[in-house]
Amino acid sequence: MAIINCPGCMKKVSDRAAVCEHCGFMLGAHDAESLARKARTERSIRVNKLVSQQMLAIVFFVAGIGATFYDWSGSQFAAWMPIAGPALAGASFIWYLITRARIYWLKRQK
Ligand SMILES: [Zn+2]
Repeated sequence: MAIINCPGCMKKVSDRAAVCEHCGFMLGAHDAESLARKARTERSIRVNKLVSQQMLAIVFFVAGIGATFYDWSGSQFAAWMPIAGPALAGASFIWYLITRARIYWLKRQK
């Protein structure tokens, strides 16, 4: 009996076990088809996370644009908001583009 790392959760399990005791991964059935299915599931989880990041980037971008055009004069933020606003908008826009590209490449993988 050997101890292997479960492909599902990377915890140590016996190679005799049919199902991982930690995550329920079917160890006995890790043929090409089930591994491919698992890879697809993981990819769609990654895409979902990236889509959430993309939404967050859009929110930050809009906030940055808002801060840029808002009249901060007289407020305690007047000194740095005209710089912080465009900086936030610019950084968010770059973040958005990177996330967009990562989603594109993930979806292209078969
Ligand atoms: Zn497991």
